[in-house]
Amino acid sequence: MDANIVVMGMESVGKSALTVRLLTRRFIGEYGDIESIYSHSFIVDGRAVTLNIWDSHYSQCVVLQDFSADSSLFEKKVRWADGFVLVYSICDRASFNTVSRLIQTIKSTKDCLSADKVPIVIVGNKRDLHHRRTVTSEEGRLLALNTNCQFYEVSAAENYHSVLMVFHGLVDRLKDAKLTT
Ligand code: GDP
Ligand code: MG
Repeated sequence: MDANIVVMGMESVGKSALTVRLLTRRFIGEYGDIESIYSHSFIVDGRAVTLNIWDSHYSQCVVLQDFSADSSLFEKKVRWADGFVLVYSICDRASFNTVSRLIQTIKSTKDCLSADKVPIVIVGNKRDLHHRRTVTSEEGRLLALNTNCQFYEVSAAENYHSVLMVFHGLVDRLKDAKLTT
């Protein structure tokens, strides 16, 4: 299976850290600000999967609800993608609210599928910084339940396995979407 994935979320939530973790198994700590599309192949349940992963910049238009400025790029990303990894930091409530808005915007942009079938995984990152937590796990779980998304809390810094689970979860969602469309 081949699929296009976009990683989205506010600045500094760890989008690049997550992506690089998946690709290299490592946490480097500092990441450039370059938008890139990476290709990554792995085996899920005995099947080869290749993901084209767009580690994207944050689209200000989603928060401002102003789609005149960079809306066309945002739309381009959403239309290109088969699935989405939406990242927030458990220490940053604004980033959690942004994920909630992103879900709505993505679902209304992706009119080709019924809204509930868009493969989306919500990721609460920086779990290692639990002493600075401002978003509870329960809130993340509830958001996922209400929007029919999958939910994981991870630490890109400390745990490769949790990051791998995110992408495995998305692959499951992609398979389901393909089977039912
Ligand atoms: P992006 O702007 O969403 O791509 O965020 P980055 O991946 O560049 O990460 C922003 C900052 O958060 C960097 O300093 C990372 O080292 C840090 N960071 C990313 N993930 C984690 C994490 O799981 N735990 C901690 N403590 N820091 C993280
Ligand atoms: Mg980045």
